[in-house]
Amino acid sequence: MDNLWKSWDLVLTNLKDSIQNDRTFDTWIKPIKPVKIEDNFIYLEIPNPLFYKGISIFIENLKMAIFKTIGTPLEIKWIYPESKNNTKSFYFGEKLNPANTFDTFVRGQCNQLAHAAGIAIAQSPGIAYNPFFVYGGVGLGKTHLIQAIGSLAIKTNNCKVAYIPCEIFVNLFIQSIQTKTMTTFRNNFRSLDILLIDDIHFIAGKEGTQEEFFNTFNSLYGQKKQIVLTSDRPPKELFSLEKRLVSRFEWGLVVDLQPPEFETRVAILRKKCELKHISLDDNVIFYIAENIKDNIRLLEGALNKLIAISTLLNKKLDINIVKEYLKEILSSQNKIITIEKIQEKVAQYFNISIHDLKSSRRLKNIVIPRQIAMYISREKTNTSLTFIAEEFGGKDHTTILYAYNKLKKQLEQDSYLKTSVEKIINSL
Ligand code: ADP
Ligand code: MG
Repeated sequence: MDNLWKSWDLVLTNLKDSIQNDRTFDTWIKPIKPVKIEDNFIYLEIPNPLFYKGISIFIENLKMAIFKTIGTPLEIKWIYPESKNNTKSFYFGEKLNPANTFDTFVRGQCNQLAHAAGIAIAQSPGIAYNPFFVYGGVGLGKTHLIQAIGSLAIKTNNCKVAYIPCEIFVNLFIQSIQTKTMTTFRNNFRSLDILLIDDIHFIAGKEGTQEEFFNTFNSLYGQKKQIVLTSDRPPKELFSLEKRLVSRFEWGLVVDLQPPEFETRVAILRKKCELKHISLDDNVIFYIAENIKDNIRLLEGALNKLIAISTLLNKKLDINIVKEYLKEILSSQNKIITIEKIQEKVAQYFNISIHDLKSSRRLKNIVIPRQIAMYISREKTNTSLTFIAEEFGGKDHTTILYAYNKLKKQLEQDSYLKTSVEKIINSL
């Protein structure tokens, strides 16, 4: 941001050459504030939409001055203070999901401490608990909580927030090495108020990224900027992480998210119903809450399916429907898909051996099934690229990513391939 302001001063100097009248300059140009540059757009803030009329005659001059200063032609996106929240819902990284806020996060015994600390952090980032480390099993609300912190901090303190799943951090880092843009990569991080990294356990075994993250961490921490991390396990169980990194994770506050107890499950179901504007009888809610115990994502998924079924049947979602369908939903949700099973089915389908599938042989009749197996593994199992790579004979995780992206593209164009993949998935 500081850099952008400095460049902006230069833009103004360049612009002054073409707009000589000081009064005009002060009235129309001075109030423009640069916000960010992204995807060939420069986001400029003006006080209100009407203001645009006054400056419209200078736009070409302005674009020229920007081009002269920055060296690339940029299109302008105008934003106004009211619309600022949309464009500033994140600083860089991934967009925050607007559904993941504290308003929609149900508090219970299972998450009391994490919830309270999260709010304190959003209100006074960098002061209360730094770093803040949240861990817990799949579907217990880590992503929801960490994003809620980001949203609240933007809303109350107008913070610069970046939410980055660890996998993306790793990829950004690798990209910046390949494209020799390390400095930009680093500067982006150093100007943040809050860095939210989701699923930090993913950094295990990636020494280069760990080293870079260590530097990012130190730099932000040194400036008293807030760092929030989530993980599927506590710091001391992150065995393949460098010790110095693990010890830093423990400097601040470490809290866990537990599976929700019955009362919280009921409250969550009620909240979700409220958000969807539907009302369910207590006995229906109790029945669902009694039967799905350890994962909020499953709880929510089952509720959604039941709602869909009742709509489809055009019947009220009552205890009979729940009793009839919940078992089925649960058994399909619980059908665990493993990479081993995927490999077995793919090999069967294409009539090749599992050994070949895991090998590095480049024969076409093996390469495509292999890519399919890799693709399905990534789509259908909740595992990391590294883990999948291991299961395919110890390849590099980039191989999996490559195969995944390639197949995804092909599936959009090739309906025959798509049918095959669907058949294999259904057979799992
Ligand atoms: P994790 O990141 O731990 O795997 P998520 O944050 O993705 O889990 O949560 C899974 C689902 O459960 C999401 O839809 C989320 O909104 C919901 N959820 C989790 N915890 C809560 C909670 N305390 N209140 C309401 N919804 C929740
Ligand atoms: Mg998550």
